[in-house]
Amino acid sequence: MDAAKVQDFMLQRKRQIWVDLTLDETDERLSLLLNLLKDRGIRWLERRYDCFTDEELESARLIAAWYDVNARVFGGPRMGTTYDMSDACNRCGAGARQTSAMIIEGEDLPKLEGRRAATTSYDDVLVDEKLAAALAQSGATGLSFRSVFAAFEERGFQIPWRQLCATHTLPPMSPRSTGVYPYKPCACGRSSFTGKEEVPMRIAYRASDVADIHDVNVTWEWFGEVNFEGDVSDALFPYPLFLVTPKVRRIFQGAGVTGFDWIPIRVEDG
Ligand SMILES: [Zn+2]
Repeated sequence: MDAAKVQDFMLQRKRQIWVDLTLDETDERLSLLLNLLKDRGIRWLERRYDCFTDEELESARLIAAWYDVNARVFGGPRMGTTYDMSDACNRCGAGARQTSAMIIEGEDLPKLEGRRAATTSYDDVLVDEKLAAALAQSGATGLSFRSVFAAFEERGFQIPWRQLCATHTLPPMSPRSTGVYPYKPCACGRSSFTGKEEVPMRIAYRASDVADIHDVNVTWEWFGEVNFEGDVSDALFPYPLFLVTPKVRRIFQGAGVTGFDWIPIRVEDG
């Protein structure tokens, strides 16, 4: 896999050249390149991730749906979406239960153009009406839908999209998962999970934890930045990851959905 992307630009009056290079970790040129960078004193960032074949994805118990961070639309608590906090952690908001339609930033509507599925910045999954109907008719379990409204300064209106909600929360992941760790742990132990660039995300569950899965599930762990001081309308909530069966991925693929990375979970024996 050779893919180099070069960006040459000025930043604070200094010329910057960024090179994005994707290599297989078994590629012998990788160590040569890293040595060369070290010798020349050139800084680099490393991101490691796994690639999967269709067969691997098709045979997975569950697959994490990971959406392109650059294409997310803003929505959620600070747009006026309401939440029941009675079972949520009062320090970080993990466990907040949505009680209204999803309200998204109207100015982000162009990001939905030409797409059939997207997420909010809190990983709420949005699908267009046709895809929502296909999911509902497929007999897939563990899902429900909410309306989506776009908010503008003066007014808001409903858009022909639906929020795909999960009715089932999985048990906590196996501690053998890698690339998933809390970076600013909350006392509840449930939030602030994130990935590590240089460690591939490998989500593991015990076999007994996935005995009772649905087609759409969310993780017990909540990811992302947190800022909650008691006022929901001013909150930055963490959010769970969506884990779906190959059946749901197939429906997404069949609809021509782009922008998602699909990462199968690992199931431990016993
Ligand atoms: Zn908490």
